[in-house]
Amino acid sequence: ARAAAESAPVGPGRLADGTPVPLLANLGSPAGAEEALAQGAEGVGLFRTEFLFLSSREAPSAEAQRAEYAALLTAFRGKKVVVRVLDAGADKPLPFLGDAEEDNPALGLRGLRALRANERILRDQLTALADANAEAGADLWVMAPMVSTVEETAYFTDLAHELGLQTAGIMVEVPSIALLADRALAHADFASIGTNDLTQYTMAADRLLGSVAGLQDPWHPAVLRLVAQVGAAGATHGKPVGICGEAAADPLLAVVLVGLGATTLSMTPAALADVRTSLARFDLAAARRIAQAALEADDAAGARAAALAAAETPA
Ligand code: PEP
Ligand code: MG
Repeated sequence: ARAAAESAPVGPGRLADGTPVPLLANLGSPAGAEEALAQGAEGVGLFRTEFLFLSSREAPSAEAQRAEYAALLTAFRGKKVVVRVLDAGADKPLPFLGDAEEDNPALGLRGLRALRANERILRDQLTALADANAEAGADLWVMAPMVSTVEETAYFTDLAHELGLQTAGIMVEVPSIALLADRALAHADFASIGTNDLTQYTMAADRLLGSVAGLQDPWHPAVLRLVAQVGAAGATHGKPVGICGEAAADPLLAVVLVGLGATTLSMTPAALADVRTSLARFDLAAARRIAQAALEADDAAGARAAALAAAETPA
């Protein structure tokens, strides 16, 4: 029976009551597409484009970009693919974008801020994506990293729509835009929460610094309360709210995130099977009850323990 279960085709992500929770892959190059599909990824929830160009000294040509995007989008023809425009700066330095001399790169000209200061690069990237998908035929969504204001949200989504991308959204990874998600989602078609940076900025703890790693925990109720605000804003506007940070790969935290209003989860492909199994154990009412228990804790350890206790208690 075990062998039969293992060779059975993997189904889509859903809760015990049938509520769909599409499970998507985080990828950094088209090379990971096959593995993601083999793990049952229903699409791509975060394609990190900066990894394609980390060693480029100059901005990549539209042609070089189009070839990379076409390879990815063709592999996921007919499926959702969320591509993030270049996230330069801090932990992802790109020689041709951003300012390498900053004292505090995590708080500097990074992500959308750097692209806006070099708008030609942003326009080229969006155009290359639209062109690549004209042939590939994926359900292409684009999103901007490190958005911190409603005005930036409108700037990016308007530009993407103008350049032919139908579905344009923002990453929510800065607390200011999580707090203003109800305003931002008046402009954006969707939001995707990046829990890695959202935790870093909420806790004021550098995600790369071992000495403060204890604070870099997405179970922290301060982070979960922000996720809940974004989830509520998504429900109000009827717009999708995904999760694409590492938090989505934690099987119990994934249930909490759905209970807080996340409509899709994106993660490293190796985590998909365990998250799929975990979601299938709970209906939406249980996920909300477990999430509520976590929200009421004082700290990350308390939230994890409260969620675990709630998950083991029958309704
Ligand atoms: C995040 O910040 O959670 C995220 C998904 O983006 P990255 O890890 O690439 O910064
Ligand atoms: Mg990030």
